Amino acid sequence: MTEQKVWFITGASRGFGLEIAKEALASGDKVVATVRKSPELLTSRLGNPDNLSVIILDVTNEQQAHEAAGQAIERFGKIDVLVNNAGYGILSAVEEATDKEVKENFEANVFGLLNVTRAVLPYMRKKRSGHVINISSVGGLTGIVGWGIYGSTKFAVEGLTEAMAKEFAPLGIYATTVEPGFFRTEFLDVTSLIRSSHVIDDYAETVGEMRSFATKVNKKQPGDPVKLAKAIVLIANAEKPPVHLPMGKDSLDLFKEKMELFNKDIETWYDVITGTDHDDVIS
Ligand code: NAP
Repeated sequence: MTEQKVWFITGASRGFGLEIAKEALASGDKVVATVRKSPELLTSRLGNPDNLSVIILDVTNEQQAHEAAGQAIERFGKIDVLVNNAGYGILSAVEEATDKEVKENFEANVFGLLNVTRAVLPYMRKKRSGHVINISSVGGLTGIVGWGIYGSTKFAVEGLTEAMAKEFAPLGIYATTVEPGFFRTEFLDVTSLIRSSHVIDDYAETVGEMRSFATKVNKKQPGDPVKLAKAIVLIANAEKPPVHLPMGKDSLDLFKEKMELFNKDIETWYDVITGTDHDDVIS
């Protein structure tokens, strides 16, 4: 019999976080589901099982992150899988978003993720085991019109996770970055998505088109969050989990397109790229 894992999931009130919590519970594991408000609502929604603990956590509050991790340890004795899922999007041209909007998005998607990671890692390092799963985005793999600011927060998540995977390797801890395309959660709803109020007409053909597309595709996105949650449980149980997991064909296609263009630039500019070393460097 495999040992029950203990999950610590941020942003579990709805969307991916909720589905991952359900899937982990269904697999027989223990779950610490964290929410910004109304913990009793989620507890009753999940049927109040013994292997569930719902804890208040706004990831932008580092003190709260440490308290939540401490409460998780008190209740279940360990944390095996941390899912840094909490986050939200901004739909805006890079130029349109205000300084405040940009900083707030980084505060939740990047600094929040770091707050929680710093709070949980000491327990994983002590045990010399664990898995940090960061929910990034296809926007963290390639720049997309209208999603430049949001995507840049996820590019940060990519860089952090890739480095963590290498730093954790000798400690028996894994790190995975998950890059979903468009999935049918509340991500595009007004309750989640920020649309910049400052709209510049010159971006009508590019960002304007994306704004219309986002409205049209909401609730019709190709990705199924229940299937994504099953995939997360699968990689948490894998002997050698991946460092990257693009989710959905749309995500994979956009990444492949980026790689082709990237490789083309390398081919075209090879001599310039490799011609910058000092002449005394021995190749
Ligand atoms: P969602 O349905 O809008 O859920 C977002 C979750 O994040 C909610 O539980 C929300 O809590 C929580 N959250 C936001 N800011 C928070 C904060 N400061 N502290 C704690 N919780 C916070 O969207 P989702 O699609 O499930 O999004 C989950 C993750 O997937 C996000 O990181 C998002 O960037 C990423 N993602 C989603 C898609 C997609 O198409 N759905 C694609 C790529 C990546 P409240 O209920 O309290 O607001």
